[in-house]
Amino acid sequence: MIIDSYNRVHDYLRISLTDNCNLRCFYCMPEEDYDFTPASRLMQADEIATLAGIFTANGVRKIRLTGGEPLVRKDAAKIILSLSRLPVELTMTTNGARLHEFTDVLEEAGIRSLNISLDTLQQDKFTLITRRDIFPQVKRNIDLLLNKGIRVKVNMVVMKGLNDSEINDFVAWTKDTPVHVRFIEFMPFSGNRWTSNKVLSLHEILHGINAEYDFLPLKGGANDTAKGFIVPGHAGTFSVISTMTEPFCSTCNRMRLTADGKLKNCLFSQGETDLLTALRNGEDVLPLIQQNIRSKAKELGGQFTGKLEDVHAELINNRSMITIGG
Ligand code: SAM
Ligand code: SF4
Repeated sequence: MIIDSYNRVHDYLRISLTDNCNLRCFYCMPEEDYDFTPASRLMQADEIATLAGIFTANGVRKIRLTGGEPLVRKDAAKIILSLSRLPVELTMTTNGARLHEFTDVLEEAGIRSLNISLDTLQQDKFTLITRRDIFPQVKRNIDLLLNKGIRVKVNMVVMKGLNDSEINDFVAWTKDTPVHVRFIEFMPFSGNRWTSNKVLSLHEILHGINAEYDFLPLKGGANDTAKGFIVPGHAGTFSVISTMTEPFCSTCNRMRLTADGKLKNCLFSQGETDLLTALRNGEDVLPLIQQNIRSKAKELGGQFTGKLEDVHAELINNRSMITIGG
């Protein structure tokens, strides 16, 4: 098992397939021009399979593919199918734009649950946030998966003054649609124009929903990042991921492998361990993994605490979200 110095067992690995993307969400990408990593510096399909095999042999039970946008990678189908042969629950976070091209692959890989990002239900606002005019395509793909009986969690990053007025529209969506909406507190990453006054807190989100709906808490799993709720009688549910105001680090079981093969033990960790170069040099990577996880900070990469007023984005040393893999 892979265990840190706070006795947290790490059995959930997120693998970023690429830092490339077909959308340009401003909260995820750096503001300045950004050159995507050339293919030769990315983990190749066989290297991803080898590394994933080492993690699963050492206790990893769940793998999430992410990015960038995992489905823009040319060999995405090959990677999904090869990882589906491992003894893990395989899932993915995607912006949904290309899902219609992958329904057969998802079925063959046995993927029954997906996270799809959608920050607004309004077409013009979607274009404003993502700088691409493909709202109908994403919405259609969400419906396509729901009609196939796949469980869909929708990630909505809440940003004050931009899309917070739509929170109850998302809750209304759960009335007749079995969709699981996750409201995510806006997080600071390199170059993403984060300021604390753009964050709508867990407390504020629930307060706004309560003005229109009565809701009940849902029983969560031991390592859940989302606090779940249901409006009685609704087909779907909603939850809040409160990284910024009520972090859930004490039960963290997550590790992240960037598309260029670096292991990060936290979204906000400063250090990273280069597993890809070690693998290419024929070194044993397991001791490197264990060492990296043992050095994991107790909370939020040791860079800030769960008090918004203490967060100074300019002092946080990190990559941009698109290069980490959310
Ligand atoms: N391209 C895929 C997608 O958009 O779902 C996967 C990668 S994306 C980086 C993973 C998740 O991180 C998305 O749900 C996205 O909304 C979220 N995310 C990106 N930047 C964020 C930020 N600054 N604060 C909170 N969530 C963020
Ligand atoms: Fe691309 Fe996802 Fe980042 Fe948007 S959030 S730019 S879709 S990686």
